[in-house]
Amino acid sequence: MTESEKPVREIRINPIVPSESVLVATARGMRPKKAEAPAPRDTRAHVDTCPFCVGNEHMTPPAIGVYPEDAPWQLRIVENLYPVLGDERENPNLTFGLQQTIDGYGRHEVMIDHNQHGIAVHEMSEAHLALLFSTYRMRMEQLYKSNPRLRYVLVFKNFGPAAGASIAHTHSQFIATPVVPANVQDEVENSRLYYEKNHRCIFCTLIDEALTFEATLYDRESGEIRRKLDVGQFVIERGKKFIAIKPFASRYEWEVHILPLAHQSDYLAITPEDITDLARILRRSMTRLDAVLGGAQYNYFLHSVPHAPKYADCGASYHWHLEICPRTSIPTGFELGSGLFVNTVSPEAAAAKLRAVQLD
Ligand SMILES: [Zn+2]
Ligand SMILES: [Zn+2]
Ligand SMILES: [Zn+2]
Repeated sequence: MTESEKPVREIRINPIVPSESVLVATARGMRPKKAEAPAPRDTRAHVDTCPFCVGNEHMTPPAIGVYPEDAPWQLRIVENLYPVLGDERENPNLTFGLQQTIDGYGRHEVMIDHNQHGIAVHEMSEAHLALLFSTYRMRMEQLYKSNPRLRYVLVFKNFGPAAGASIAHTHSQFIATPVVPANVQDEVENSRLYYEKNHRCIFCTLIDEALTFEATLYDRESGEIRRKLDVGQFVIERGKKFIAIKPFASRYEWEVHILPLAHQSDYLAITPEDITDLARILRRSMTRLDAVLGGAQYNYFLHSVPHAPKYADCGASYHWHLEICPRTSIPTGFELGSGLFVNTVSPEAAAAKLRAVQLD
């Protein structure tokens, strides 16, 4: 039995957000209900009735942006038909006792990620992924500039019915809000505290640890080896500028994070050269996930430093990243009630399996 196959049952504390802990329990049957096999995703290249397919452009709200501008398009950004936030200020801020509301001002846009209906990220070319990620950057910047009240632009993608994608055609979403999402706030505030104490970015520290191949713990009294840690076991992919890591305290069995190797707090600072390497690392990581899972359905989202005056000093302490969360199980009552995630695949075993996938 190798180190990564040993049964694990321990509560792991997320180093960035300690209140978010995970019970890693690899014994079978820990989870009362496994998700049924997810509905298969739609893999068709073109669907006549799909509003996002080529030839049906009249079925979407007018395009905000089309790339490239001359046909055939590869990406289109449109207003969301059912936005969760809108421009109109119908309800002014209303505060009553503890029931505070912030008006739902903001923008909600959809980006059609490819002109082929059911194409998965790992099936897209690296050049296309580079276009996708530079368009994320460009639209984020435009949204921040459009209104100084916008504090955060969340970019995310739901792929496959198991991940809550309501339209099968591959797409991403932009949600620009006057409030910073709570989980981003937690990351930003906790990493700032770490920085104040240690004068280092906690994400950079985690990357350094992940790139340390081995650590040995000695017994202080006898000087004997107490435990050998294979720290590098959490690395999935390493490029020139990016690294893909299986977090030590992963909430989801197959969760993978991609981070820039060099410190960078704001996704807007990414360069075209960076994006080329990001596209390569993302494509390779997604190919690994798809191979291991036999078809991955996932959410991914970008976490970048908020554009809020409150966080103006977080440039050195926060480090942007892409979180990829494949959906393989549904949360149980225990998880929803306790806030403690249960992960039945040890992150080190998951990383070993992902690394073992042969890529060409
Ligand atoms: Zn379509
Ligand atoms: Zn950093
Ligand atoms: Zn994050």
